[in-house]
Parts: sequence; structure tokens; C-alpha cells
Amino acid sequence: MQYSMVTTAYIIAAVLFIMALAGLAQQESAKRGIWLGMIGMIIALAATILSPEVIKLNTGLGYIIATMIIGSIIGLWVARRVAMTEMPELVAILHSFVGLAAVCVGYNSYLYHHDLTGIMQQIHLVEVFLGIFIGSVTFTGSVVAFAKLRGLIASKPLNLPHRHKLNLLALLISTVLMVNFVMQGGSTNNLLIMTLIALVFGWHLVASIGGADMPVVVSMLNSYSGWAAAAAGFMLGNDLLIITGALVGSSGAILSYIMCRAMNRSFFAVIAGGFGNDPVTTETGIEGEIITTTAEEVAAMLSSSKQVIITPGYGMAVAQAQYPVHDITQKLRSQGVTVRFGIHPVAGRLPGHMNVLLAEAKVPYDIVLEMDEINADFASTDTVLVIGANDTVNPAAKQAGSPIAGMPVLEVWDAKRIIVFKRGMASGYAGVQNPLFFMEHTRMLFGDAKSSVEEIAKHLR
Ligand code: NDP
Repeated sequence: MQYSMVTTAYIIAAVLFIMALAGLAQQESAKRGIWLGMIGMIIALAATILSPEVIKLNTGLGYIIATMIIGSIIGLWVARRVAMTEMPELVAILHSFVGLAAVCVGYNSYLYHHDLTGIMQQIHLVEVFLGIFIGSVTFTGSVVAFAKLRGLIASKPLNLPHRHKLNLLALLISTVLMVNFVMQGGSTNNLLIMTLIALVFGWHLVASIGGADMPVVVSMLNSYSGWAAAAAGFMLGNDLLIITGALVGSSGAILSYIMCRAMNRSFFAVIAGGFGNDPVTTETGIEGEIITTTAEEVAAMLSSSKQVIITPGYGMAVAQAQYPVHDITQKLRSQGVTVRFGIHPVAGRLPGHMNVLLAEAKVPYDIVLEMDEINADFASTDTVLVIGANDTVNPAAKQAGSPIAGMPVLEVWDAKRIIVFKRGMASGYAGVQNPLFFMEHTRMLFGDAKSSVEEIAKHLR
């Protein structure tokens, strides 16, 4: 393939990636977006493999194809096995691979490109240093995010004394090392020390963030992985990798910003490892009585309601209860009951998780409303079904000093009655107890959400 053809293929791939991102912005066009992204990636890979640089290596092509086949088999195997609820973990660990790849490309570029001089050499050394720094932070940060999401380590924030000063110190030392590194025309010691600092810095940054802020962390690491890929693109002189990395980096940053706004968090506070957050008071046990109910009683309550709102959460995804939920929605609507869904921006374990599940079960889009659109309507609602949600409906968010203080939540307690579907009294992902369960007008329906909803469906006429 000639250089001009490679460039043309790269431009086509870049346009397809931009169209893919645009498609992913809407549920209706998301599938088309994924296809466009896949076609773009196939074109990009084919153009890179058949480019004159790779062809002239001769032996290199065989290694690349063999590696791609092994990688594709592992990728297909993992993608087919992973449950929807495990997607954020998968995304986090994949981000760590991008970070590690950027570190490897950085060292490779440092060790094998000694042909540059003057300002070009200095620019190259800055690229190498920043690429390895961002890659290392992304690598350990993503590994910690993976471990937190998988429950291998506690989701509680690690509050080391002087943690912000430690972060600042790491950044200052790294900056001094970068200046030294460039001034000395490259020095392995500076690079190695910075790599160690960046690995610890990435680990500490994510370990310091609490469970409720994890969605922002995942999208932030997505952004870092994009910048790491862009840095690798500069080192490899590959324009498409720079464009793709910048697209991922900026879209991840925009998503993080949107999520921070939705959760009333400062963007800077989250990316700086919880900087500026008020110290959290120790939680005291909530005392009170819980009142249980049965599926038959809930069916009767629903049939006598005029307005019903369903607020699904992570438990609905675990139980795969979206299909029976759609079933009772249809039954109630045919009885003249108005049923709507209230979706919290971070319900579940990945952005848009609940929307995807409800769309899968064919719940009409027009009755699925965002938190801001529905919050004022709870006061005029007869019955709210809280299906496997916990943190996203926790009134503790309104109390200063709570670990989730300030996070906007679905104000379900304003409704006449609330039915909470869960298996026991476990707290939500943020590890904060929920006073909603002890309120006078709350009824607890214990059991797996799918079985409970199926049972209610049987009792509905
Ligand atoms: P939570 O994780 O707060 O709570 C889920 C509840 O579901 C638990 O209390 C659990 O209680 C219950 N549950 C689990 N399995 C079942 C089942 N089979 N049947 C019935 N109930 C079940 O959920 P939310 O959706 O309200 O909140 C999401 C949390 O996850 C937030 O803190 C958010 O910040 C965080 N997060 C979100 C991400 C995102 O991108 N959306 C990414 C990472 C974290 P029990 O065990 O007693 O049944």
C-alpha cells in the first residue's frame, strides 16, 4: 500500500470514529455508532499493517498477525462471557492495558530513537516522558478501579494523612525529573524514578476516591487512556492514533465533567483524588423498625394507584428483572395506571446501564425519564417501586457529613408509599446505610427482584 493510500484510509477511519461517537450519543442510533466504529477500526488496522513501514520490516508482519489472532480470540472469549454488570470492571482493566502499552511504547521509543538532535530531540524526550507518565498513572489507577469494582478491595476511600500534599509532591518531583531528563538529552535514571512515582501516584489517586464517585473515576480513566494513546501516537509518528487518542481523551473528559455536574461534585476535586472534600463523619447505625410486605399486597397497592414510578438500580441488573418489570408495566398501563421510570445518572454500574436494560426489555423510551425530569413528580405519586436501587435513593445524601452528602438522589420518599425490592439489609455500593428503609411509609419486599416482580405479575389482573 502506498503512503497516499494509507493517509486516505486514516482519514476515512477518523471520520468513521467521529460518526461513531455521534451515533453513540443517542439510544436509537447507538448500534449504528458501534458498527461505524468497528468498520473504522478494521480500516485503520488494515492500513497500518499494510503500510510501507510495516511491509519493509518483512518478519514483523507475521508477528503482528499472530498477535492479532491471539488477541482477537481472547477478546471474543472475554466479551462473550462477561455479564452486563461486570462491564465496568472489563472497561477498567482494558484501560490498564492502554496505559501499559503507552509505557512500553515510551520505553521503546526512548531506547531505539537516537537519531534526533536539537529541538526535535527535546520534543521527542518530552513526548516520551509525558507518554510514560500518563501511561503509568492510567495503568495503576485502572488496576485499582478494577479491584474496587470487582470488590477485591473495599470501595471506601483510602484517607492517608496529607494525601493532597503527597499528590502535589509527586507532581513536583516528576516535573523536576522531566526538566533534568530533557536537559541531559535523556537519562534512564530520571525516567525510571518518574515511572515508579507515577505508578504509585495513579494507585493513590484512585484509592483515595470513594465508592459513590467511581463512575466519574471510570470515565476519567477512559479519558486518561485516550491521552496515553495520543502520546503513543506522537512517539510512533502515527496520525490516526493521535486523532483517536484525542477523541477518546476529550470525550472521556466531557463525560466526566457531565457526570460530576449530575452528581454535584467538583470536577477538579474528583480528578485530584477527592481534593477539597469535607472530612466525612463516622456513620452511626440507624435505629428504627422496618415493615415488610408481600407480593400480593404490592399487587393490590399498584392496582389501586393512579401514578406509579419505578426507580431501578444495580439490583435489577443483577436479578435481570427488566423483563418482568416490563410485564407489570404493561399490565398496569392496560388498567389505566400511569407508569413511568425515574433513572438516576449513576444507577447500576456503568453510564446508561438502566436505559440499556429497559431498552433491551422493550420498555417504551417516552416513559423513561431522567432524574431531573421526574424528581418534582414524586410528591404527586401514589406508589414508587425501588427495584434494586439503594445509593441513588438514599436520603442520607441530604445530610451534611454523610459520605454521599451533596449527591443528587431520586427523592422517592416524597411519594405516598414506597416499596423497596432487595434481598436483605445490605448497604449500597457507597457503603452508606439507608434511612429510607426505616420510614413509616416504606414497605420492604425481601427476595430476588426478578422472583418478586414475577410474583406480583401473577397477582395483577
Ligand atoms: P447500589 O449499588 O447502591 O445498591 C444495589 C442494591 O441492590 C443493593 O442494596 C442490594 O441489596 C440490591 N440487590 C443486589 N442484588 C439484588 C437482587 N438480585 N435482587 C434484589 N436486590 C438486589 O445501586 P444503585 O444503582 O442505587 O447505585 C449505584 C451505585 O454504584 C452508586 O453508588 C454509584 O456511584 C456506583 N457506581 C456506578 C457506576 C455507574 O457508572 N453507574 C460505576 C461504578 C459505581 P441486597 O444485597 O440486600 O439485595
